[in-house]
Amino acid sequence: MTTYDCVIVGGGLAGLTTGLELAEAGKKVALLEAESFVGGRTASWDENGMHVESGFHRHIGYYTHLPRILKKSGIALEDIVTWEERAEVRSPRNQEAVKLGVAPLFGPLKMLKTITGNDPYLSGKDMISTARFFLNGIKDYYLHSNELDQWTVREYAKKHHLCEAAFHYIIIPLSTGVFFLPPERYSAYNFFGLFAAGLPRLYKMRIGAYLGGMTEVMCQPIAKRIHALGGEVYTNLKGESLLVSGNGRNVYGVQTEDGKVWHANHTTLAVSLHAAKKLLKPSFSSHESFQSMFALPTMDAVTFQIDMNTPLMEKDITTFGPGTCLASFAEQSRTTFQQAKGRLSIILTPPERFTALSENETLEIVLQDLKAIRLPLAKENIVKYRKIAHLHDFYHLGPGHHVMRPSQKTPIRGLTLAGDYTMQPFFATMEGAVYSGKAAAEFVLREGQS
Ligand SMILES: Cc1cc2nc3c(=O)[nH]c(=O)nc-3n(C[C@H](O)[C@H](O)[C@H](O)COP(=O)(O)OP(=O)(O)OC[C@H]3O[C@@H](n4cnc5c(N)ncnc54)[C@H](O)[C@@H]3O)c2cc1C
Repeated sequence: MTTYDCVIVGGGLAGLTTGLELAEAGKKVALLEAESFVGGRTASWDENGMHVESGFHRHIGYYTHLPRILKKSGIALEDIVTWEERAEVRSPRNQEAVKLGVAPLFGPLKMLKTITGNDPYLSGKDMISTARFFLNGIKDYYLHSNELDQWTVREYAKKHHLCEAAFHYIIIPLSTGVFFLPPERYSAYNFFGLFAAGLPRLYKMRIGAYLGGMTEVMCQPIAKRIHALGGEVYTNLKGESLLVSGNGRNVYGVQTEDGKVWHANHTTLAVSLHAAKKLLKPSFSSHESFQSMFALPTMDAVTFQIDMNTPLMEKDITTFGPGTCLASFAEQSRTTFQQAKGRLSIILTPPERFTALSENETLEIVLQDLKAIRLPLAKENIVKYRKIAHLHDFYHLGPGHHVMRPSQKTPIRGLTLAGDYTMQPFFATMEGAVYSGKAAAEFVLREGQS
């Protein structure tokens, strides 16, 4: 019988990071992933003849943890990402797209133009109101974090008299477009926290589009590196229950759905919050230290992807659609999905409006809203489309939830947690997932020494 140093349940970025860090440290690891591919919420795969992705993703220029893990896997970020210096906002209200510079160092003129205003939609005065709002928010993030987490973004904007145009063209895109939640349900702490996390490296800020599906360009190479270091990576293998001894004081491995028992000195649960609760509850439902995590609510994300026989937009560029269901989207036929003649990847908002709708019903709403922002898409130009729903995959970014996030370290010997919902400074992002995976590996290594 093999006893692993660590068995990792979940092959998203968090689990892959834990696996890589431990394999590099010479530990014997096995990573178990329920799906037939690694990548989790960053995955890409073939489905009914269409190459689909978990959803529209962007790499943020200030990330350091994700590039580091990629480098360790032999991937140069510049080879898999192409950079954008601005994003666009298309609203049913405006005739032309509002252009937002996002790269102070790499696109200073575009940035300057944004700051001086996008007349007639977003004036210089609106930008001053926005700057004041952000300065207050960042200050409160550092000085009054608990209080800030009680406000929604909408309430905080009202409190600081943010002008309506800035709210529509900047704040809705940056809340709904980034975390799918409208400003009336999104915690101001989480909103400003994501910007605060990037402040020390603001000069690095820009938006990266991946040059290929993320399982291919990113996650599979990490898995291969784990394998090359002697680790084992299994797909189609679902962790079903934890092996618990000592009256709940010790975890010594996992049993998988196929009945196999995986003995390990350490087990890292690197699944999403909902899946982690399901694995923990049978043994730890009344354990005091998990109560806050059990009470932490989840939220869904829904994405829609359309292959077309021609590109819908002139450029592959991050676009936000305030006032529509199109939270954020982009044409991707020249970047991520070059095998398609035209390709649109969209994050829908609010997610719960779409979870129960059929793909056809969703398509009708998407087409209506595309038309409303002057991007009419004729049905004869559509080749294939898919709706991908992530039910309960995110921890809920609403007010009051931040403090409920658990540490990667647990009081149970042999058990750590990893995943974007665990406590780390980058919220529900790829960078956060990698950060958590690295933190979990450090706890495993430390426990191994004690
Ligand atoms: C639509 C969308 C858009 C996004 N956009 C961005 C973006 O632009 N930029 C950004 O930085 N982040 C973005 N994110 C967030 C980012 O993808 C996530 O934060 C990150 O991928 C989470 O990684 P994770 O490893 O914590 O969890 P996951 O990726 O969810 O990984 C968990 C893994 O565990 C597996 N699993 C679950 N249960 C079991 C079990 N019992 N046994 C074995 N395996 C199991 C799952 O199949 C999954 O592979 C986006 C996410 C989505 C869905």
